[in-house]
Amino acid sequence: MSSSGGRKLAHVALLPSAGMGHLTPFLRLAALLVARNVQVTFITPHPTVSLTESRALSTLFASFPQIKQKQFHLLQAEKNSFDPFFNHIELIKSSGHLLSPLLSALTPSLSAFITDMTLASAVIPITQAISLPNYILFTSSAKMMTLFLSYPALAGSRALDDLEETDVIKIRNLELMPKSLVPPPLLQKSDNFLKKSFMEDSEKVIESSGILVNTFVSFEFESLGKINDGEVLERPPSVVAIGPLPPYDSEKSRLQLAWLDDQPAGSVLYVSFGSRTALARDQIRELGVGLITSGSRFVWVVKNNIVDKEDSQELEEVIGHELMERVKEKGLIVKSWVQQEDILSHPAVGGFLSHCGWNSVMEAAWNGVRILAWPQNGDQKVNADVVERIGLGIWVRSWGWSGEKLVSGAEIAERIRECMGNESLRIQALGIKEDARKAVGFGGSSDKGLTELISKWNQF
Ligand code: UDP
Ligand code: UDP
Ligand code: UDP
Repeated sequence: MSSSGGRKLAHVALLPSAGMGHLTPFLRLAALLVARNVQVTFITPHPTVSLTESRALSTLFASFPQIKQKQFHLLQAEKNSFDPFFNHIELIKSSGHLLSPLLSALTPSLSAFITDMTLASAVIPITQAISLPNYILFTSSAKMMTLFLSYPALAGSRALDDLEETDVIKIRNLELMPKSLVPPPLLQKSDNFLKKSFMEDSEKVIESSGILVNTFVSFEFESLGKINDGEVLERPPSVVAIGPLPPYDSEKSRLQLAWLDDQPAGSVLYVSFGSRTALARDQIRELGVGLITSGSRFVWVVKNNIVDKEDSQELEEVIGHELMERVKEKGLIVKSWVQQEDILSHPAVGGFLSHCGWNSVMEAAWNGVRILAWPQNGDQKVNADVVERIGLGIWVRSWGWSGEKLVSGAEIAERIRECMGNESLRIQALGIKEDARKAVGFGGSSDKGLTELISKWNQF
């Protein structure tokens, strides 16, 4: 805590987990808190998995010299998962005990600590031991949170064993969601990383001082209501929607895509599967055929490897010479990190073929860009379901999970035309943009939620 003109100011420390999907909302929250006079210490697990993460951190500290950086040096550990980001989450968790001295040494003393839901089971016992109010930033949808919070009850009640006979996930009398939306590892009988994390982290999150979530009330009214009304858990920690977490200025400074400036308003489809999803090579090529056949203009971000540092192949090797020549006629194709916010906020962009990582969904809502949903893994079908129900986009459910089937170029082209030609969807997306801006604007639901939290921290 520090004081300014006699008033106490909150000092909050933030600890993200691994991958851009988890880091980005923390960076944006840090910038938002600074703008509201909160003193921020940003704890950075070191090293990061990808180059992009370390670059994003450098940009934050260069743009906000008032944010204090504390490096959290990770211990070495065994790699149990095939997924480098999951391994890193494990590594941060197993280094958790080193956090205690780091937090206690911060001056002025902390008012609150905010960490990612994937780190809850390691961090909450530490903050409890030093009586530090601990909050969770949930970086997926509130709908996903209903599943996350009820998972131990589900597993404990053997409801998962009975799933073969039913198509919906139920806890007590509440129908949570169709089984087909649930990340497959959570339904497996055998142990796996996601199941273990959901069990451990969910149980600890319940003991936290509160949960912040990057969504907004009008977008996920039903799920937020179910949680806060005690339908999912009898005594849930309070869940506060503070999104969409807006991009901060320095994120928007590097527009490399002058090509977009020459395209007609709303004519371009932006195609990206986020920071950590690489489609299979044959599916990448069918997608290329689909983009060309659709007749739409497009910006296509091709991703060939999960982690940037391991990707040495040239774009032409990935998509082939012939396709490369043809895509260049109608679109822009890149195989590197792009500033997604620059693209989604560009007036030429009218649609987004997206895997529905939650940050991408919030960014589409923020910019009023309609989505053609193509979820691949994890929470993405749950998120796509939210997108479809609220009217921000369309979703072809039969495309299935990643690798389940090869979706043909012809089918992709047809759906792109359907999405880009859909005038009512375009208008609905613009309405959602207005709602998103209202939520974070002065007196909006997300603005009020964050203001109340900060005034609580100011008193601590
Ligand atoms: N992103 C970006 N450029 C890229 C790929 C991704 O700026 O080339 C950003 C995107 O805007 C979002 C985040 O990285 O903020 C990805 O998070 P999301 O939840 O959408 O998906 P994930 O990568 O976790 O699957
Ligand atoms: N990337 C990744 N994981 C992340 C962030 C980015 O795999 O967490 C990918 C990104 O989508 C891109 C590649 O890594 O395909 C290279 O991005 P980067 O900007 O780090 O390297 P550059 O190509 O600029 O050298
Ligand atoms: N998740 C979690 N704990 C973990 C790993 C993942 O709660 O240790 C969440 C994750 O954020 C998402 C869902 O589980 O809501 C599916 O994870 P995914 O495979 O998509 O990984 P992510 O890209 O979110 O790291």
